[in-house]
Amino acid sequence: IASEPKALGIRDVTMRFGGLTALDSVSLDVQPGTIHGLIGPNGSGKSTMMNVLTGVYTPTAGRVLLAGRPIQGTSPARIASQGIARTFQNVQLFWEMTALQNVKVGLHRGMRSGLLALALDTRAAREHEAGADAQAMALLELVGLAGDAATDARDLPYGKQRLLEIARALALQPAVLLLDEPAAGLTAPDVAALMQVLRKVKGFGVTMVLIEHHMDIVMALCDAVTVLDFGQKISEGQAHTVRNDPRVISAYLGT
Ligand code: ADP
Ligand code: MG
Repeated sequence: IASEPKALGIRDVTMRFGGLTALDSVSLDVQPGTIHGLIGPNGSGKSTMMNVLTGVYTPTAGRVLLAGRPIQGTSPARIASQGIARTFQNVQLFWEMTALQNVKVGLHRGMRSGLLALALDTRAAREHEAGADAQAMALLELVGLAGDAATDARDLPYGKQRLLEIARALALQPAVLLLDEPAAGLTAPDVAALMQVLRKVKGFGVTMVLIEHHMDIVMALCDAVTVLDFGQKISEGQAHTVRNDPRVISAYLGT
């Protein structure tokens, strides 16, 4: 019996920048519907992995499988349309656009037929626009920003900007959502709101890879955790097991 393909299969991925090996033959499987933590000290290769998974970098060696199909070497736009969305370590939004418009940009990218309708038929275009507004509002509501729809992204407080970035990523209707340190710089109440949002997103069946420094968040949310150090996988398993792994402890202590 053929086993269900993993949401993401990373096979012996190596990424070199000149003489520096940022990822050294890393393999890992992300199970569908789970939140998979990716942790490790600064410079261990976490963001590089995100960039490989989203096609920003083509790995020096190895393969990336999305639902069993190889995607390494494909363009970021193509990978996004195949179902991988992301948020960035440093928030990236269209600062001069409203929260609603930011999410709608994601929708347009996700719906080629909608774009075609826009180009070909003005009535269909208007109906599509109305549909897009409703969908974007639903996503804002999901992340708790329904009341901020008309606010420009630059005028939102930082915690809400982080949530807006998640809503925009979800507009692509991704199978897999990659989150690069979504809690960085957040206050405790903001972190609580973020965790609630991620639980809801998981409830919708979206698989997530979560890069996160706060161990309490990883412990609370992640079904499995992979630990990188100097580009190598040094530990993997359930969060509470990984946390007590001597290799992980020494990596974080720098010994
Ligand atoms: P992390 O996100 O775990 O803090 P990164 O993936 O950002 O780590 O970086 C891993 C290593 O790769 C670091 O030594 C970093 O300096 C290096 N690196 C990342 N991106 C590049 C790049 N585009 N060119 C050269 N070196 C890079
Ligand atoms: Mg990083």
